Amino acid sequence: MTPRINILIVDDEPKNLTVLETVLDDPGYRLVRAESANQALLALVAEEFALLILDIRMPEMNGFELAQMIKERKKTAQIPIIFLTAYYNEDQHVLTGYGTGAVDYLHKPVNPTILRSKVAVFAELYRKNHEIELANHALNDEVIERRLVEKRLRDLNDTLEHRVAERTEALRDVDRRKDEFLATLAHELRNPLAPVRNAVQLLYLKSPEIPEVKWASEVIDRQTQVLGRLIDDLMDVSRISRGKIELKRERVELAKVVQRAVETSRPLIEQNGHSLTLDLPPGSIIIDADPTRLAQVFLNLLNNAAKYTERGGKIELHAETNRNQVIVSVKDTGIGIPAANLPTIFEMFSQVETALSRSQGGLGIGLSLVKRLVEMLGGAIEARSEGLGQGSEFIVRLPIVVEQPGSQEAEGEPARGPQTAGLRILVVDDNRDAAATFSALLRAMGNELQIAYDGEEAVAAAATFRPHVVLCDIGLPKLNGYEACRLMKQQAWNDNMMFIAVTGWGQDEDRRKSRDAGFDEHLVKPVDTPYLLKLLSNIDKSAFRPIESRA
Ligand code: ADP
Repeated sequence: MTPRINILIVDDEPKNLTVLETVLDDPGYRLVRAESANQALLALVAEEFALLILDIRMPEMNGFELAQMIKERKKTAQIPIIFLTAYYNEDQHVLTGYGTGAVDYLHKPVNPTILRSKVAVFAELYRKNHEIELANHALNDEVIERRLVEKRLRDLNDTLEHRVAERTEALRDVDRRKDEFLATLAHELRNPLAPVRNAVQLLYLKSPEIPEVKWASEVIDRQTQVLGRLIDDLMDVSRISRGKIELKRERVELAKVVQRAVETSRPLIEQNGHSLTLDLPPGSIIIDADPTRLAQVFLNLLNNAAKYTERGGKIELHAETNRNQVIVSVKDTGIGIPAANLPTIFEMFSQVETALSRSQGGLGIGLSLVKRLVEMLGGAIEARSEGLGQGSEFIVRLPIVVEQPGSQEAEGEPARGPQTAGLRILVVDDNRDAAATFSALLRAMGNELQIAYDGEEAVAAAATFRPHVVLCDIGLPKLNGYEACRLMKQQAWNDNMMFIAVTGWGQDEDRRKSRDAGFDEHLVKPVDTPYLLKLLSNIDKSAFRPIESRA
């Protein structure tokens, strides 16, 4: 139902007002009577009117004056006014009426139909305006509500963002503290390892004749080595996550690095009865890398191959160059990797659930470490396997250093490192892999190499080969290293040969024994290659007689 609209009728004659009431009787109108200008003003203050019907001739204040006042008041200025008069009929009056802002001017006696229809127009106009006003209000309210909702959303968003930022920071903090904890843990776990190993070696040295002591010391030695490797991995992972791994890059010889990895991995490979084949291309391959970290990459792959292959398997390390990169693959005949696990095998803590995998322990961080190291060196790694039981292959690609033509090194003069080329070197080691890799490295540096696998063979080889240097293992079949060295030193054909013991034992007693046997140097495995190269660079080839002239 539409609300009734107020119409103010003003006339000093009550009967005129009654006539107006009769003419304008309509349920949509509420007629308010005023018999003087003052009454009219009071009514206008009290409520809102859609229309004013105003008599002109009134005592005290006439209709024109009242209209003037109404138009001057801001609150009432917009109210339309219809003047009614029986006296003011001249144009001038009509104009005065319009001049006050009235919208119509009617003469008495009023034609009821005309008055009704004029009032109806203004009433309709008022209603429409009122509706528009209401709609405007509603719209305004909606806009305000929207703004409020938007503000609430913004506030909520800010709060959420703030909370997310706080949580992220808290998580980062936890993560940081976890990494720091891992680093401290690894460090603290590592510290007791060296004394344990030293103590067990001491026990063994004190009673080498008791087989149980020997066996127990070897077990402890092996297990502490495994533990040491796990702790090293743990340390590296925490270093990598804290961005604390620094690569000490230098130009390294691939064969040298591979040899170092093979030397370290050999006990595990032998313990599992595997065979290892090395296939490196001739000539030297130079990589710009941190030698220790690169060796760690190959060591991890070789150890995994040994771990995840049933006893008596085959492991192959093959390298080849392709334009500016070297591709090194470590392949085994082991348990293989199911296709589903291949895509995630390099992720941290990723382990394949197989009986053999489980029995090998491990933390599942070795491969992720390998991948990160390889990537830090500008290379890439990939895993291949035809599936369970089908063996695995890990392929590492690394950029190689291409020598600038005309550079010092290209002209045959190494820019750095000692000059060790042109020597005849005899390598004596019953471990064929160790002998092969060691010789490969030295040969790659431009030396002439021969290998002997036992003491007797060493003496025989030295007699004909007349080496400048003999690199000799101690624990050898037939004649041990000490005996072989003594024998060679006594020969007439030996003039200035250099004898270097290369052994796993590095106690004072061991060094004394090799000195007594006639060795010039005593190196502990894994050999510190730069030191060896320095020793070799000191050899004066001119101090040797030509082979033919020696008896
Ligand atoms: P860990 O050996 O300590 O478990 P790694 O990161 O070195 O951790 O290896 C992750 C997993 O990948 C191993 O648990 C094993 O399941 C699988 N894996 C690694 N190397 C080989 C391989 N040569 N043959 C088969 N599975 C392998």
